[in-house]
Amino acid sequence: MTKRLFIKTYGCQMNVYDSARMADLMAPLGYAAAATAEGADLVILNTCHIREKAAEKVFSELGSIRRLKRQRQREGGRMLVAVAGCVAQAEGEEIQRRAPFVDILVGPQAYHRLPELVARADLAGEGRVLDTSFPAEPKFDYLPETGAAPGVTAFLTIQEGCDKFCTFCVVPYTRGAEYSRPAADIIAEASCLVAGGAREITLLGQNVNAYHGAAPPDGQSGSGEWRLGELVRALAGLPGLARIRYTTSHPRDVDDGLVAAHREVPQLMPFLHLPVQSGSDRVLGAMNRRHTADQYKATVERLRGARPDLALSSDFIVGFPGETEQDFQATLDLVSAIGYAQAFSFKYSPRPGTPAASAENQVPEPVKTERLTVLQASLQQQQRAFNANCIGRVLPILFEKPGRHQGQLVGRSPYSQAVHANAPADRIGEIVPVMIRAAQPNSLAGDIAGAAAGDGERAA
Ligand code: SAM
Ligand code: SF4
Repeated sequence: MTKRLFIKTYGCQMNVYDSARMADLMAPLGYAAAATAEGADLVILNTCHIREKAAEKVFSELGSIRRLKRQRQREGGRMLVAVAGCVAQAEGEEIQRRAPFVDILVGPQAYHRLPELVARADLAGEGRVLDTSFPAEPKFDYLPETGAAPGVTAFLTIQEGCDKFCTFCVVPYTRGAEYSRPAADIIAEASCLVAGGAREITLLGQNVNAYHGAAPPDGQSGSGEWRLGELVRALAGLPGLARIRYTTSHPRDVDDGLVAAHREVPQLMPFLHLPVQSGSDRVLGAMNRRHTADQYKATVERLRGARPDLALSSDFIVGFPGETEQDFQATLDLVSAIGYAQAFSFKYSPRPGTPAASAENQVPEPVKTERLTVLQASLQQQQRAFNANCIGRVLPILFEKPGRHQGQLVGRSPYSQAVHANAPADRIGEIVPVMIRAAQPNSLAGDIAGAAAGDGERAA
């Protein structure tokens, strides 16, 4: 009999990828995706621990899940509840204390063991099953082939974990040491995604451009390893794969091979998320980012030298311990100097166990709030200007899905902007030239460009 599986995903795209793989793992055991937790046989919360707010959301969701679990029990059924991901890894004990009805706790490196954990929890009755180990075997070796048909765009995790230990960040503790998947496995998974209909693949990793996976047996590489630039070139050779992106990059790991790939590989999209966090060298030093503001600017120059239309995005943290007005001004100056197409910005959130959390010079909350407001105003202004600049241009848009309005499709520009246009549904999956006529802060609108409309596949 089919069982109902509900997965709720928090946080980054890597969690989106992990959730899809959990569904793949459970499918052979008869679990099919359910749209809500109500009446589900298995509920998985795949969690994020990057900021306090993200972790707190999980505890609040667990409140509603407990009610649904009780209701299921009253109806004579059983709902297993699993907390997966980084909150399970970092706050397993807290979950056991605050939510004793949770049946399974599984960390991000151990979820390939989910079928076994579910079977044990099924037998255990009220007992809890826990696996937050960092297994010696790479989980990717134990995951089944990608099952469900991918959409037009797909994620593919190529690298995990991080050895950089930025002083604000939990990732090295929750996701563990850096690991790069062998290139041959990635190419095989990408081929499978393309065969299933994916036209664009985003390569994922906490530190994706630190990638250094084993080269395929026939791959030409003196060191036996491929870096990201070599992997991108190989993937660009897959017939049908029109677009490649990667995220999240670290400025320290932008090597010449990657810069050359931006120059020479047309499938590599001219949009890069390259987080800088701060424009102050003093703060960057205290964050252990291992580069200065000038080095970041020089990296951006190298990339723009290779791909002049490269659009940039970044992450910023305001109110890092000890950040002065002068430091904050340096961040605003860097923003002006670079010119971002979009960006994410956050108030510093002390994370238990990280070095910065115990610093004595924490910045007061109202100061953080004020700085965030100022920074976001500047970033939003840049984003609006970037979008407005697209008006009157014809951009190749990869249509992904129906839009909100009848007869409308939504897709992405090469610069990762959402673009709405009137078009028939059978153009989903095609790259179509669209004349941009209007710009909103977070999206563009346009019309299929007249003469070339039937010629869309050659537009990218
Ligand atoms: N590996 C990426 C890098 O080095 O830029 C970042 C990955 S992290 C999952 C995503 C973003 O969350 C970071 O770039 C940072 O801006 C933000 N972040 C991480 N820890 C944070 C904290 N303690 N407080 C506020 N923001 C944080
Ligand atoms: Fe966290 Fe990124 Fe720094 Fe690694 S490089 S510790 S993932 S912020």
